[in-house]
Amino acid sequence: MSHVVAQVALPVPLHHTFSYLVPVAMQTQAAAGMRVQVSLGKRLVIGIIVQIETKAHLDSPLKLLETVLDPRPVLDTALLQLALFARDYYLHPLGEILLHMLPVALRQGAASEPEPLLHWRLSALGRHIQESALKRAPRQWAIIQILREAPEGLSRELAQVWGIKLTELKTLERRELVNCVALAQDQRTTTAFPLLAEVPLSASSEQQQAIDRINASSGFGCFLLEGVTGSGKTEVYLQVIAQVLERQQQALLLVPEINLTPQTVQRFQHRFRCQVVCLHSDLSDRERLNAWHLARNGQAGIIIGTRSALFTPLKNPGILIIDEEHDISFKQQDGFRYHARDLAIVRARLHGICIVLGSATPSLESLHNALAGRYHALELKLRNNNATLPHLYLQDIRQHTLEAGLSQDSLKHLRLHLKRGQQVLVFINRRGFAPVLLCHDCNWRAACPHCSVFPTLHQSAGVLLCHHCGWKQPVPGHCPKCKGAHLIPLGSGTERLQGYLSMHFPEYPLWRLDRDSVPNQKRLHHTLQEIHKNLPGIILGTQMLVKGHHFAAVSLVIIVDTDAGLFSADFRGAERCLQQVIQVAGRAGRAGIQGEVILQTHDPEHPLLEILLKEGYHALAMHLLTERDALQLPPYRHLALLHAQASHPEWIMEFLNSLHVMLPQISPFGPVTAPIEKKAGQYRAHLLLQSISRKQLHIDLQHLPQLCKEKSRHQIRWWLDVDPQDLL
Ligand code: ADP
Ligand code: ZN
Ligand code: ZN
Repeated sequence: MSHVVAQVALPVPLHHTFSYLVPVAMQTQAAAGMRVQVSLGKRLVIGIIVQIETKAHLDSPLKLLETVLDPRPVLDTALLQLALFARDYYLHPLGEILLHMLPVALRQGAASEPEPLLHWRLSALGRHIQESALKRAPRQWAIIQILREAPEGLSRELAQVWGIKLTELKTLERRELVNCVALAQDQRTTTAFPLLAEVPLSASSEQQQAIDRINASSGFGCFLLEGVTGSGKTEVYLQVIAQVLERQQQALLLVPEINLTPQTVQRFQHRFRCQVVCLHSDLSDRERLNAWHLARNGQAGIIIGTRSALFTPLKNPGILIIDEEHDISFKQQDGFRYHARDLAIVRARLHGICIVLGSATPSLESLHNALAGRYHALELKLRNNNATLPHLYLQDIRQHTLEAGLSQDSLKHLRLHLKRGQQVLVFINRRGFAPVLLCHDCNWRAACPHCSVFPTLHQSAGVLLCHHCGWKQPVPGHCPKCKGAHLIPLGSGTERLQGYLSMHFPEYPLWRLDRDSVPNQKRLHHTLQEIHKNLPGIILGTQMLVKGHHFAAVSLVIIVDTDAGLFSADFRGAERCLQQVIQVAGRAGRAGIQGEVILQTHDPEHPLLEILLKEGYHALAMHLLTERDALQLPPYRHLALLHAQASHPEWIMEFLNSLHVMLPQISPFGPVTAPIEKKAGQYRAHLLLQSISRKQLHIDLQHLPQLCKEKSRHQIRWWLDVDPQDLL
């Protein structure tokens, strides 16, 4: 007798799958990609079938599957294959990857087929009944009047919006005044015609060329759309997506930030008469599941989301788009450490469709791939609407007196632009009042007891706060070491600048945008609305300002601390810092006003700044690539990082050293202490693994998780990060 065996991946940190016997009654149903319930030890857990096999005999007795949870796979073939690829590439346990791909509700066992949608509609009787017949039931009469306005009927959600209770509808149903009809979710019409709800902008010749080339491609292809800030990349996406929707296919768009940039989502909603699903972090588990259904059943034409939206199932995939592809948020920094852009390319290949990576400041990795001919390069060099790119000026602040971080010259320009009725954007990538609290008498500095970093002074809250571990303490009244009373804040952050600017420019509004001043969506939308009135004022903020915003009235941008990122311990520091400069600068001069950007720096002769100013980002990127090549760094070398941490530094060094000697090919340097040596009480160290050949690196890495398990003693946490983006 042969046996049907299911290979099941379970959400446990183990790299193998588990075998379960499929009971005869489940054999016609069970298939790869379905969720099952199985017993693991004494628990019942949810796993995913990866494969079904038939075996002539069993080597050892197997447990039975308990339940098959799905009538059809929740992970289709392409997503299953993507997971298998990710397992081999990131060396992460398959079960954790597969469950990560599903919405939380499904991980917890929710039904994977949507409930039919109940609609309440007036019956013939209800349509014709007179008020006099319902004299004693004014509430019922009121509901009937509402339903007369809605010939399609009301869903439960819509009824709620109108303040109608389910019990009230049921009463009317009993009186045969309304009917309840069930509509299967995918019975609802998907696209209304005509598809376009507004006339597209007439594309510039550069845009048209990009659109034509993308539309002409068939099968898999990867495009790198390098377009200066404000050049109309989004318009290219819109016009390409129009074609995709015409073919009854779906578009998946990944963006770095969605809650901060409602404008972007609105542009998609306004353009098309199709359902646009937006996966943002404020969704409840149920809403997220609903969005998943809409995408999977093909009702949603456009799906927009951040990193994890990559795993949204698509009934008819047509195109994948990664906007701001250089953005670091596409890399997950804990657990399953994948890069959504890189996996998106794999997914596009599995579907045989094209993928567009867009950015004003493409990553060096993507530029390198384009140079090597693996991606098709598309360029937008000009801005639209007669807008020109802003002028960048370096401002030498050495030996200048600074006020809350701003030079006299910057302040003069600030006043000038405000007087002209324009907005000024002041950018500093630091929250709080000051990054360091120092004793002027004895040089004591406030330190976080759990981390090797300084806590930030938040003056209005009256606390020192560690941004790494959350440690918090009231600001001391005097120095704990010498009892002196001269504690001075060193450097400045948004809070300090806010105080200074609102005191010196009281006649203008000041909008501060950072995590502390914008605690929720509502506040953010309100602030953005104020800014979009385009009255003169100062916009002050951190990187929250950078992503995707369009501020039409901004004519001057001041970058307070240009140098902050240039001298980072991370080899990508300069790339990131200069990308940010370009992105912030790109907020200026968007609506026909010539924009100016002041870069305050202590290092005006810095060669990278010079190239950026004289020749622009692309030339700078080419220069950085040459450097990377010479220094044998990515994208010319492939990297993986073995990170370890523990409460004792000797333990991790011993652990990493024991692995270092076993990996002579890919571990030339030996372990080093991490730049942030201690975080939340844990000492941290790294072993950098590298190879010129991706294949070699992966051959050697295959056994590493097992080796780590054998070598790591109690209380050492370790993880492997393939293509690490953060080396701190
Ligand atoms: P990006 O995504 O490259 O930053 P956007 O797509 O947001 O640029 O476009 C910047 C501005 O230019 C927007 O206000 C947009 O409406 C406008 N724009 C884009 N393409 C055109 C066009 N072909 N004609 C007129 N205006 C355009
Ligand atoms: Zn002191
Ligand atoms: Zn800390």
